[in-house]
Amino acid sequence: GKVELARTIQDVVDAVRPLIEERGVNITTDVRPGVTPVTGDRDQLVQVIQNLVDNAVKYTPKGGAVRISLEPAASVEAARAPSRSGVGLSLLSPDAPEGQAFVVIRVTDDGPGIARQHLPRLSERFYRVEGQRSGGTGLGLAIVKHVVNRHRGGLTVESAEGEGTTFSVYLPLAPAVAAQA
Ligand code: ATP
Ligand code: MG
Repeated sequence: GKVELARTIQDVVDAVRPLIEERGVNITTDVRPGVTPVTGDRDQLVQVIQNLVDNAVKYTPKGGAVRISLEPAASVEAARAPSRSGVGLSLLSPDAPEGQAFVVIRVTDDGPGIARQHLPRLSERFYRVEGQRSGGTGLGLAIVKHVVNRHRGGLTVESAEGEGTTFSVYLPLAPAVAAQA
């Protein structure tokens, strides 16, 4: 169906805000008005946003800041070459449509960052960075990648050690039939 991402992001953030603030992390949203709804699976996209926010909050120390934004993207080209500090990973669905408008959801934190050598394996199931102060089972990003693929989108990770991490989810306005169920 049609998914109003601005609304979806706000719902997810509102639901987790008390828990997040209890942890001493500040969360802000920056949602451009008038972003076109995407066609997709709302429950799956909620999971994507929840997993990225969960990570940003979980791996960011007390006093840190998490920011989630939504904006239009003219195409998926920007997803091919993430550039923050030159350290990045781009996972593009093989059937991401060319020459079509996308939207991009970004989740940015000012936490520890992710060392370069871990980036290629991050979205593998059960993959976790050693020595992380807290964590789960290592499934969150595998789910994110799976859902992004089903929506013919793209996922990028830009990270700098000691500075923070940005995950960006690119979604085409009209994805594969498989994702519309
Ligand atoms: P789960 O999501 O199943 O609870 P998890 O958070 O450990 O477990 P993923 O969400 O797949 O698993 O993340 C994989 C690993 O990537 C994490 O264990 C962590 O080491 C690293 N990571 C993910 N997001 C961040 C982030 N925002 N900052 C620093 N490291 C991160
Ligand atoms: Mg996680």
